[in-house]
Amino acid sequence: MSIFSQPGFDNHEAVHAFNHPEAGLQGIIAIHSTALGPAFGGCRFWTYANDSDALTDALRLSQGMSYKNALAELPYGGGKAVIMRGNGAVDVTALFEAYGRVVETLGGRYITAEDVGTSVENMRSVAKFTSYVSGIPKKDGYKGGDPSPVTALGVFEGMKAAARHQFGTDDLAGMTVAVQGIGHVGYHLCSLLHEAGAELLVSDINTDNEDRAISEFSAKPVTSDKILSAAADIFAPCALGGVLNVQTIPTLKAKVVAGAANNQLATKIDGQLLSAAGITYAPDYVINAGGIISVAAERTSGATKEGVLGAVKRIGKRTGKILSRASQSKTPPSEMADQMAREIIAKAKTTTAKQAA
Ligand code: NAD
Repeated sequence: MSIFSQPGFDNHEAVHAFNHPEAGLQGIIAIHSTALGPAFGGCRFWTYANDSDALTDALRLSQGMSYKNALAELPYGGGKAVIMRGNGAVDVTALFEAYGRVVETLGGRYITAEDVGTSVENMRSVAKFTSYVSGIPKKDGYKGGDPSPVTALGVFEGMKAAARHQFGTDDLAGMTVAVQGIGHVGYHLCSLLHEAGAELLVSDINTDNEDRAISEFSAKPVTSDKILSAAADIFAPCALGGVLNVQTIPTLKAKVVAGAANNQLATKIDGQLLSAAGITYAPDYVINAGGIISVAAERTSGATKEGVLGAVKRIGKRTGKILSRASQSKTPPSEMADQMAREIIAKAKTTTAKQAA
């Protein structure tokens, strides 16, 4: 396994591998940038085919966190942890306690929280050994906790902005939205869409999750292999990354793609393919920033629920701005968002360098 020539490597500041076999813990923390502040991003607990795949995931996700935090105007850089789930049984409490000790050794350069496969309970185990953890409900001030409902709200606002850009209206009543993945975020997104009067098509490999959306939101089920090509106005990827690629993009019927999943584009070229097909793509890390806004607020004294909801609702305005700039300059929205995020990070680096001189 190489690091500097690994897919996803983007001049990351640091990559930490950790191994604690007694706790069944093996994983990677990638710190992409601390130019804007400590690297902040969730911890993914997932089964990887090999450690090279885990490294690529950590590298790409941590870069995404740098861009996400920059565009969400948060005083944080980007980082991400991946823990490789093994085949055998594991004491999950002991595993996350050991992970908490690892996070503590980084002295605050990286702050962790939930991501796919991790829960509030896991973060409570982490918190026994480090204060550099968020996503745990607090008694005083802004409550915080599970970021998923707040993420879903941001995705909903971003989706409306993308619909306005593509269809000239952000009224989703009567529109058909195909949602892939009805987990923590997908479920709350379906709830908001149902309330807004949208028709829902849903797909989840976990049938319990799919059934819940069918019974609560009158959603219609679609098999996993058909959800991308389903007859819908909007496609919302809310499972895992890489679903938009050279094979799947030509099959899309939806004219808007707006969902929660990180790294939806398999490669940079896929952003260009979407634009060429006349599909409006709401960049994933722009519209799924609600969760990080929420967990960051847990660490901000004086933060309020109203303040967090206001910041999350601004995701809609920001998405609209990126989409118009992208259209004006004939650049795919994914590239426009990257460019704007890189400018913010570069400016912070210049300011720091000037202060140090
Ligand atoms: P989750 O694990 O709760 O839900 C994911 C769901 O997708 C599960 O129900 C799973 O069964 C389903 N799934 C997996 N593969 C599938 C497939 N091929 N077809 C259909 N369904 C499939 O995760 P989550 O917290 O809801 O996060 C979803 C996505 O959003 C992830 O990519 C995550 O990184 C991203 N995200 C989440 C948050 C958050 O606050 N939870 C914040 C930002 C981004």
